[in-house]
Amino acid sequence: MLDAICNYDPDNPKTYSIFEFKILAASELDKLRHFLICPVCQQKAYFRKASIDGRQACFGSRYHKIDCAEFNPSVRKEEEEKQMLEVEKVLLESDSLVIDFSAPLVKAKKTPEKISMSHKTSPDKVINTQPEEVKDVAKSEPKVSKQGLKKLLISLLRGSSLADSDLWIYTSEKHKWRAKNLFVNIKNAQPTDNGAPRMYWGTLSHADKSLNWLNPAENSSVALPIAKYRDDFLSRFDIKKAVDLEGAGFILFGKCVLSKDKKRRFIHLWGNDLQYLYLLKN
Ligand SMILES: [Zn+2]
Repeated sequence: MLDAICNYDPDNPKTYSIFEFKILAASELDKLRHFLICPVCQQKAYFRKASIDGRQACFGSRYHKIDCAEFNPSVRKEEEEKQMLEVEKVLLESDSLVIDFSAPLVKAKKTPEKISMSHKTSPDKVINTQPEEVKDVAKSEPKVSKQGLKKLLISLLRGSSLADSDLWIYTSEKHKWRAKNLFVNIKNAQPTDNGAPRMYWGTLSHADKSLNWLNPAENSSVALPIAKYRDDFLSRFDIKKAVDLEGAGFILFGKCVLSKDKKRRFIHLWGNDLQYLYLLKN
């Protein structure tokens, strides 16, 4: 994307070329980068600085409509379309969905997609095998699908109906939620009445220099403090510099809290356990 529209002043949206935008003063740039949208499909966009390994500064969007001209045909587009269709199929055909927090970060050859809720996997088996696929599910048994965070995130970013769905989602054997109550775009993040966690998702604008804070693009008053699991996070997702995080998609199961002055909101990862967080890098 060579241009992006900036809605900092909603009454006077301004179109920036990447060449104009990248030379703005740092403070101006950090202020405006939260208000960028795709000039074609009007979806949320991000700005990414040039990196020392030679990647040019650019605009991009994780939210392009599937038919947006700026969403160029690519391996990624095909892959994302496929993942989105799979989730749409789950919404149509399944009674509930189990989130597979242990799904491998790198795509395995073949993972079983359907398991029975009554199926138990012994802990020692988990280490080297996938849960066995249940071949013949009795007709009376509800149809349960199992999906990892990556697929759910891609589907949410591309505007699937998952976010508004009544589908039951299991975050553990004991905890289930209606999808529409569980998934919350980061722009709408608010502390819940009873302190219950939610599955927050969105895209990152940028991180601070020390890589202790992640700033979502959708809402500049929300931040993700990652200091407590920073080093594991950086190695798990192979992050070397702050620029590696710009424009990345994210989903995490966590709790939203207000800052002391009540002006900002922070999302704390559940149990500081990285299995509850997925990062979709560019
Ligand atoms: Zn677009």
